[in-house]
Amino acid sequence: MENNLLLIHGPCALESEEQIDEIIKELLPISNYFRMGLYKPRTNIESFQGLKKNGLAILKKMKNKYPEIKTVVEITSIEQLNNIDDIDIIQIGARNMQNYELLIECGKTKKTILLKRGFGATLEELISACGYIEAQENYDIILCERGIRTFSESSRFTLDLAAITYLQEKTNYKVIVDPSHAGGEAKIVKGLIRASIAYGVDGLIVEVHPNPQKALSDSNQQLDIKEYQKEIRGILK
Ligand code: PEP
Ligand code: MN
Repeated sequence: MENNLLLIHGPCALESEEQIDEIIKELLPISNYFRMGLYKPRTNIESFQGLKKNGLAILKKMKNKYPEIKTVVEITSIEQLNNIDDIDIIQIGARNMQNYELLIECGKTKKTILLKRGFGATLEELISACGYIEAQENYDIILCERGIRTFSESSRFTLDLAAITYLQEKTNYKVIVDPSHAGGEAKIVKGLIRASIAYGVDGLIVEVHPNPQKALSDSNQQLDIKEYQKEIRGILK
């Protein structure tokens, strides 16, 4: 599959060794990175919060089994930065886009930072947030549009496609889209993938799962790995 897209695939949350192994096996040929949430920022405290530190051992095991893989993990606190050896890209989630202390410490690691737009943040606020990472002499940043809050009820959030052009013109960074959290529902996510690629996005971060119905978080929006594979190959062929 010939394309220049940066493709990040993986489950919303890492749930087990079997789960992530199945995803990597299936999607290795078409993935640049694998995402896997360990520390999940959930709206409700009753919801699955992620395997947290216990997931790091699984991450290491996968890195040993598949030495070619690169990983993306969201960091939600400075303390978690003590254990990032097996993390290639540090994700800063929408809720933490303006957590400046966290941005500074993540920037200092010199790892690639995937900075997601806050769902109530303007694009200028997103660009300004980059300044906290850049001030650590870290210019290795990927920006992510993941949907903003509007009065539209057609999807979980409203994907701001025009943000792609705005950010591509105003920064030197790659601009990717997260269709999963924007769409909130598998069939909408598929449409947003097609729209983002047609629009000219630099990459995608897509939530996929071997059995979405059984997913411990965001089960409505995660795409079945086999179905996703067929879909993306069809679009990019
Ligand atoms: C995520 O990517 O796992 C996530 C929680 O997304 P966001 O921060 O965009 O809500
Ligand atoms: Mn999710």
